[in-house]
Amino acid sequence: MFFFPETDYSAYPKNFIRFLGTAGTRFIMLSQRRASGGIWFSYGGCHGVIDPGPGSLVQICAADPPLSPLDINAIILTHRHIDHCSDVNVLTEGMTLKSPDKKGEILMTDDCTEAGDTVLLGYYAKKLSRLHRHRDGARCELPGCLTVESVVHEHHRVECFGLIFRSDGLPTWGIVSDTAALAEFPSRYSECDILVMNVTMLHPRSRLDHLSLSDAESLLQFLHPRLALVTHMSGFLLDYGPKKIESRLSTKRTKTITATDGLVVDLDGV
Ligand SMILES: [Zn+2]
Ligand SMILES: [Zn+2]
Repeated sequence: MFFFPETDYSAYPKNFIRFLGTAGTRFIMLSQRRASGGIWFSYGGCHGVIDPGPGSLVQICAADPPLSPLDINAIILTHRHIDHCSDVNVLTEGMTLKSPDKKGEILMTDDCTEAGDTVLLGYYAKKLSRLHRHRDGARCELPGCLTVESVVHEHHRVECFGLIFRSDGLPTWGIVSDTAALAEFPSRYSECDILVMNVTMLHPRSRLDHLSLSDAESLLQFLHPRLALVTHMSGFLLDYGPKKIESRLSTKRTKTITATDGLVVDLDGV
């Protein structure tokens, strides 16, 4: 007989994110120097996972306090690179397992389901209650009481979008995913009280569409979120050290934390 214990979320804050990984670059992912499972969020009545890369399911099942893949209501892929999408099918298995009817929603880019090169198997796509597509500036309603706005990015010729989460009465928070630094980010992310940034490089390199530490520094000079969280780091950045990253990016108005695997952030406590 099927048995899966009920998960008690009372050990977590009501609205929170948990880093299931903080790896950036294929080298950090392949060595698992940092885990690469993306971000769990519980916000506005929705449990979801953003960018479930390699080991996302393992990180969920190993989490303490526990999380359960069966409790996921939504999965969001910012883009189709393997460090952001490899576990989408196994998490969809968990998300849809308990329901005889269609269940669960996914927000992804059009090129995630390109004919002949889809990241989501047809078997799982058929089990979903809704499959949403990113459209720049559109606000997608997910199960619970929240919307997610897609923010177009520029990232090595794949479709890629950042995210802004809103729910009435709750802090607004956002993610700048893998991208070159774009001039419109200060206006697009201006409402975010909390901002997660995929900061991959120590120094800017024109051929690489990833944020560098100085790009993040410039962005925060415009945005002033109450909390900035740095993730998706390369080996160069990890070697540079979390304390130095935090002292460069923190200001009188913004506290910066370099995320670690398993870090839980109380979204209401910022
Ligand atoms: Zn990428
Ligand atoms: Zn990436």
